[in-house]
Amino acid sequence: MLSKKIVDLLNNQIQKEFHSAYLYLSCANYYDEKGLKGFANWFHVQVKEEVDHALYLRAYLVSNNQKVELFDIEAPTETFNNFKDPLELALKHEEYVTKLIHEIYHAALEEHDYRTKDFITWFVTEQGEEEENCTELIQNYDLFAGTPQGLYQLDKDMGARTYVQSATVAAALTKN
Ligand code: MG
Repeated sequence: MLSKKIVDLLNNQIQKEFHSAYLYLSCANYYDEKGLKGFANWFHVQVKEEVDHALYLRAYLVSNNQKVELFDIEAPTETFNNFKDPLELALKHEEYVTKLIHEIYHAALEEHDYRTKDFITWFVTEQGEEEENCTELIQNYDLFAGTPQGLYQLDKDMGARTYVQSATVAAALTKN
């Protein structure tokens, strides 16, 4: 049995994850416009991961016999002035999402909802990885993108990222 507060928080988080996907799609669009196909690819993979996060939350609500609610997703309004802007936006955004996830974890503890606490722990770990990935990207950009050759190589490296669905998410989505 999940409390209304927890169900509301989880439904709200579904919208936040789809919004993240939308935001990262706008980053991919920017890089595609600029001809940086590798950077665009990196964000395109990120889009798929964010959709997975939303669907994983949905599957949890379904498996607990709770009503899933879908809210409006705002169009991204960010404008990018240079190639580094989307990378900094991504780190700032992931830090914000970490706060949201921690709020759900905290609420689950307060409500003695140990099932949701266990479920949301996957997201706590995931957020650590998201922040680490974004920080590494910014470091790589600062270190290597200062010359056309460096930017070219970094774009190639980012083009090698492939989407691999988490086994945990895949298992949950098979069922719900
Ligand atoms: Mg996410």
